[in-house]
Parts: sequence; C-alpha cells; structure tokens
Amino acid sequence: MSTLIVRDRIAPNVSTHDIVIIGGGCIGCSVARSLSTASALDVAVVEKEHHLAVHQSGRNSGVLHPGFNYEPGSLKARFATEGTRRMKTYAAENDVPIANDGVLVVAQSDAEERRLRDLQRQADANGVEAELLRGADAIESYEPHAAGQAALVAPAAASIDAQQYVYSLARDARATGVDFYTDTRVEGVSPTRDGFRLRTSSGRLNARYVVNCAGLHADRVADAFDVGTDLQVIPFRGEYYEVVPDRRELCRSMIYPTPDPELPFLGVHYTRRTDGTVIVGPNAVLALGREAYTNTDVNPRDLVEILGYRGFRRLVSDPKMLRVAATEVNKSYRKTAFVEAARRLVPSLSADDVTKSYAGIRAQLVSADGDLVKDPVVRHTDASTHVLNAVSPGLTCSLPLGDHLADRIIENFEAV
Ligand SMILES: Cc1cc2nc3c(=O)[nH]c(=O)nc-3n(C[C@H](O)[C@H](O)[C@H](O)COP(=O)(O)OP(=O)(O)OC[C@H]3O[C@@H](n4cnc5c(N)ncnc54)[C@H](O)[C@@H]3O)c2cc1C
Repeated sequence: MSTLIVRDRIAPNVSTHDIVIIGGGCIGCSVARSLSTASALDVAVVEKEHHLAVHQSGRNSGVLHPGFNYEPGSLKARFATEGTRRMKTYAAENDVPIANDGVLVVAQSDAEERRLRDLQRQADANGVEAELLRGADAIESYEPHAAGQAALVAPAAASIDAQQYVYSLARDARATGVDFYTDTRVEGVSPTRDGFRLRTSSGRLNARYVVNCAGLHADRVADAFDVGTDLQVIPFRGEYYEVVPDRRELCRSMIYPTPDPELPFLGVHYTRRTDGTVIVGPNAVLALGREAYTNTDVNPRDLVEILGYRGFRRLVSDPKMLRVAATEVNKSYRKTAFVEAARRLVPSLSADDVTKSYAGIRAQLVSADGDLVKDPVVRHTDASTHVLNAVSPGLTCSLPLGDHLADRIIENFEAV
C-alpha cells in the first residue's frame, strides 16, 4: 500500500477554494472526504508536514473503542459505537490493516470491579456487547498472562493501522477532487470581502470557508479567528514500549486497566497491533512543547505559554493531579516504574521484555478553570469551523464526526 499521496502546488499568485481545511490528520481528511462526497464544493487540505498523519493520527494506540466507556446518549458514545462499526467495514473494503481481536479490561480490586459493572451497564445502554468474567481462570482462558479478580471483555474492539487509514481517506478525497497542499504551513489569516486569505509557507490561499482541524495547534489557529480564546491546548505526551518478539505471546489481543472516571487518559495498556507487534503504554506526562516527543525536547515558546496559562496553573494546584503527574513523570524517566505499572496487568512481564518505542502527544484542551475537557469541542462562526478538542477516541469517531461536521459546514456555507 502506498504511503504518500501526490502533492498539489499552490498557484504562483494565489489559489482559491470554496473550503480550505487546515490539518491532514484523521479528522481533517475525514471532513475532506465527507465534504467532497456530499457536495460539489471545491475543497483543499493544507498540511504543514511532508506526510499526512504525522502527529496524533499516526502516533496513537490505533484502537477502535466500541463505546462501553462513554456516557449513554453522549456524542462520544454515539460516534464511538458507529465509528467502530463503520471503520471495520471501511478497513475491509479498502485494504486497511485491521485486527478484530477484542479487548479485555481488568479489575484488580472490589472498587474496580464495581466500576466494571458500571461499564457493562453503559455498554448495554450503548448497544455494545460486553461480558463480565470473574476470577483468574476465566481471565486466563481469554488472555493467559493477564491477572486480575474480574474483567470485562468487549469483542467489538479492534486494532487498526491508523496511518494507512488516513492515507486511504486522503486517496478517497483526492479521487473526488480535493487538493492536498503538504509541506505547507498556515502562518496567518486575514478576512476578505468573501471569506479569508491564508498566508502559508508555500503561497497564498483564498477560502470562502475555513475548517480548522489543526490538532495540537487548533487553539492557536482558532485565535486568529477570535474563536475559543477562553481555552488552551496543553500537550500531554504518551510514551510506549514494545514487547520483544519472543515475548509477544504475553498479549493476544488488548489488555486495559479499569479506567479512572476522573481522568481523560486510559492508563498504560497492551495492544497487539495489526503487524503482530505488541506495544505497552501510553503514560501521560506534560510535554515541554506541542511537538516535544522526548523528555529532552523543550520548546521555550510553548513552555512559557503553558506555564503562563491560568487554566494550567489551576489544574496543577489540584493535589490529585499533582500526585498523578508525579507518578506519570516517574514512569517517563524510570523504565522500572513503567514496567511496574504494566506488570499490574501482566505480572510475568520483566524489564528485559520491553524496549523503548514511539511517543504521541495528546492535544488536551484545558479550560480557564483548570478542567481537563473530556468531550469534543467544536465552534462555528459564519464562515469557519474549529475542531478544538478531538480527544481520544478521536480516531475511532473520525468517520461519523467527519460526516457530522460536513453537514454543518455545507449548511453554514450555503447560508453565507
Ligand atoms: C498517545 C495517544 C494515543 C491515542 N490512542 C487512541 C486510540 O487508541 N484510539 C482512538 O480512537 N484515539 C486515540 N487517540 C486520539 C486520536 O489519535 C486523536 O483524537 C486524533 O488523531 C486527532 O486527529 P486530528 O486530525 O484532530 O489531529 P492530528 O492528527 O494531530 O492532525 C492535525 C494536523 O494539523 C497539522 N497542522 C497543525 N497546524 C498547522 C498549520 N498551521 N498549518 C498546516 N497544518 C497544520 C498538523 O501537522 C497535523 O498533521 C490517541 C492519541 C494519542 C496522542
């Protein structure tokens, strides 16, 4: 399967489109595909990197979350359930690698087991199949190396090659006429009589309507439209280890801890990827830059902005958050601490069984009051749409979210 799509070039003077989408991740490419399928509008995607899906969309766990984790009736629950179903069909029809292995969520205490029962009720309400296993034998029959007192099995969960999925969306969009300007960073925006002029690193673009799907930079792009100025993205890095090849039998499918309802991150888990590798992670540490993928990377501008943000200072003044932060930083700097967390799920894992792998950075919106915003946030103006918090499971939700946004964008566009 090819990994690069052909790059379009901005005309020497200026190129003009009905709609310009900023960001070539799973959300931007899904919106582009939906818009070009549902309308005859002239659409372009602008991506600052050479490849698509270089940031969050290509640096995640690649898990399709079928919806047992999300409050019944919420948009997240609806989109995760529908998204999982649709992505499985899409992957099968478009040769995107996928492994339909299901997930095991393990409880280690009575409190966690009660939480699993709640999750099972949520699963029922959301129409997601989930079975509660009790005792070590039942768990071992599903995952021979996993340990716990109870576990929830959700067979609908799957692992997908996220990068190939985004390339496939982009190929679909391109086939229906969408232009892709890669290696092109949007650097400034100014209003015009009938829309906006975007100043980019490769030339100028005119757009009657702009869709901001800029992920880790979405709040900054929105700022230029005077939108979402009350919110800021705080980057949280998630680091992964990979299980060495001759110990991959430690995980057959996916093994997760019971989630803490107060935290937006799911905790260190095991995922068997579509190529047979098994990854362990991610943790969640403050990244000292929006694209700071290692703990020695620092972006001074980003760091000053993070520390200067009232919402961040309020967040870290919460003693629970400080405790969580200390534990997560420990996992980042000390392999033994990371392995210790992973051993809660699979006790026979040893430090020699894993090697350091990739990292991803979550664009986590934090409100001025210091709350970690858990739901997607989308803001619209007459001629622009801003996806400000495409938090996990954003990959899982991307097909229905793309359609949902496209409907609203077409409606707005026609009203302008
Ligand atoms: C560690 C981690 C694990 C995760 N695990 C899962 C999971 O298992 N399942 C799941 O469903 N979800 C998961 N997620 C969430 C999921 O990855 C995201 O919700 C999703 O990828 C967000 O996609 P996006 O298109 O909004 O952002 P991105 O993929 O970050 O895309 C934004 C794009 O905008 C571009 N851009 C930014 N600024 C500009 C500019 N000025 N000009 C031009 N281009 C610009 C960037 O280069 C980038 O390519 C995880 C996320 C992380 C970080």
